[in-house]
Parts: sequence; C-alpha cells; structure tokens
Amino acid sequence: MINFFKFIIFFIFYCNQAYSDELVNLRFGSNEEKKRIVLDLKRDVPFDHRIDKNIIEIIFKTKISINSKVKAKENLDSISFDKPKNKLVLKFKRNIFNTNIYLLKKKQNTYSRIVIDFTLKNNKKRTIVIDPGHGGKDSGAVGLYKNLEKNITLKVGLILKEKFKKQTNFNVILTREKDFFLKLRNRTKIAKKNNADIFLSLHADFNKNSRARGISLYTLSERASDKEAAALARRENRSDLIEGVDLSGESSEVTSILLDLTKRDTLNQSSLLVNFLIKAFKNEMNLLQRTHRYAGFAVLKSLDIPSVLVEMGYLSNKYDSKLLVNENYQKKLADKIVKAVIEYFNWKDKNNI
Ligand SMILES: [Zn+2]
Repeated sequence: MINFFKFIIFFIFYCNQAYSDELVNLRFGSNEEKKRIVLDLKRDVPFDHRIDKNIIEIIFKTKISINSKVKAKENLDSISFDKPKNKLVLKFKRNIFNTNIYLLKKKQNTYSRIVIDFTLKNNKKRTIVIDPGHGGKDSGAVGLYKNLEKNITLKVGLILKEKFKKQTNFNVILTREKDFFLKLRNRTKIAKKNNADIFLSLHADFNKNSRARGISLYTLSERASDKEAAALARRENRSDLIEGVDLSGESSEVTSILLDLTKRDTLNQSSLLVNFLIKAFKNEMNLLQRTHRYAGFAVLKSLDIPSVLVEMGYLSNKYDSKLLVNENYQKKLADKIVKAVIEYFNWKDKNNI
C-alpha cells in the first residue's frame, strides 16, 4: 500500500514535471501592416527557429507539450507538433516576410512568450533590369520613316526607369542609358551582377510583310516556335557580329548545355511574366497573333533570371512605325509593363513561389 502511494506521488510529480513546459495558448494580433502571433508557455524554454517561405519551425531544446486548445486560425493554415524532434511547425496560408522571432521571459503572473512578428507583404526591393536593345554602331531595325530601333528602345527604357522609380519597392537598372554599343553577353552580365529578379529586353521588329503589326513577347527556348521566330533570333543575335564576336555561333552543344542548366523553373517564371504582360496589354494595345513565342535569343540566356524579350511593334508597318516614336504610346506601353510586373510579383508572393 505504501508503495502504491509512493507511486501515485511519483506519478503526480512526474506529470507536473512533464507538463510544466506546456504551450498553453496562441494569441493573434495585427495592425494594417504588421502581424503578430504570441505563443504562451508556462515557462521559458530555449528554442531555435527556422523560417522558409510560409513555414516557421520552432525547435524547443527541452521537452514540451501542446495544450489541446492550441488551434490554427487567422493567417495560420495549420499547426503540427513533431514530438520526437520537439518541433512545432507553423504553416501559414501565404508566404511571410520581415519575420522577427523573440522571447519575452516569464514574469510573475505572466506566461513566457515567444513573439512572432511578420508581414504578408514583401518589403524587399525587387531588382528589374531593363535592356534597351542595340545601341551605338548597331542601330537595330531601320523603320519605314528611318526611325532607328536603338533609339526607340532607349526612349522606352528611360521612361520605364522613371515609372519604376516611382514604385517604392523596385530597383531599376538599365543596361545602357545612352547610345552606345553593348555586347549581348554584357547585357546579361549586368543582370547577374545586380541579382536581377527579372530581365526585360526591349526591341522593335521588322518584317517583309508590311502588314504584320503588334506586340510580341519572346521567352527562351531551345527551339524557336516557328521559322519567323528563328529568323528574328538570328537577326537579334547578330548584334554581336558587328563587334566580331559571334555569340549566336556558339556551338549547338554549348547552347544546349546552357539550356540544360537553365532551370525549368526560370522558364516557367518567364512564361508567367509573359501571361501578366499579355493581360496588361490586352484590349488596349495591338498584339501579334500567338503573342507569346519562343526563340533562342542570346540575350535571354541569363540562366536563372526570369527573362522576356519584348518586341514592341513592327518598324516595317506604317501604323506601328508611327506609334513606336509617339511619346504617349511609349508611356502607355511603359505603364502596362509596370502594371504587369507588379502583378507578377504580387502573384508570386500570394502563391508562395
Ligand atoms: Zn532588336
């Protein structure tokens, strides 16, 4: 009998010990910008944490237990506890940003608190590299009215820079801000050096068929989507021939290795950006049929940066030729591009990509 009591006493003592480091409560708070989750614990428990996109892991250094009242709500999608690893996993409905996790030590009559501050918006600046095609001795296409592609691309590039600068969360860099020659590979180098989040190369097309008009958008592909796209890629890649460096002539083996290295993800991201561009242009600008095309542009081979080549219209078409040098049109075009880029990043943030 005495033994039995001993056991009971031991059991109560043991339970108290085991459950004294209990996670009792989750509390949620927020103002417009900042969100907060507070974890109330019975005692101060040392912990490590890891943050990855929409997941926070809190790894406790001593054993804890979770009160059954602790439930996911508000921005939290789920809470799970990995008992053997003593790891609490908080999964959020969306990616979280600017996360700050800290401990407020237990005082008399208060719980020990682990505070998680975060935002749902990414305040990190995105770097956009805009590449006005051609320049210097490489004029690009010469239009019906002798307008040069290199001047149009620079003009739109400079307008885009101003417009992006007005958005607080973008850094914008132009590969050239003046009329000078720049090798294709140096254009992508600028994007890499600056850790660009996206790369947009601006061009204006020329076609034997003077009726062809409208905007077309190209992303990198091993194979061009049609003969015209292939010919266009050859023309644009030829830029470097002027300098005596033929990048387009790199052996197909090298090209295919480069393409293999290109993460499929990057190509998907480029296509995603194209979709937002088409959405922004649609109904208000002329689009070439099958607006999204694929070609092996040297300037798009930046491997891991989502990149799109924008052919803003045809200098061989009388309507497009006039529009491309019209400042109102250039501004409208730039507005749509900015809109599409903002939507692209919003979508990425929302969808945890
Ligand atoms: Zn061009």
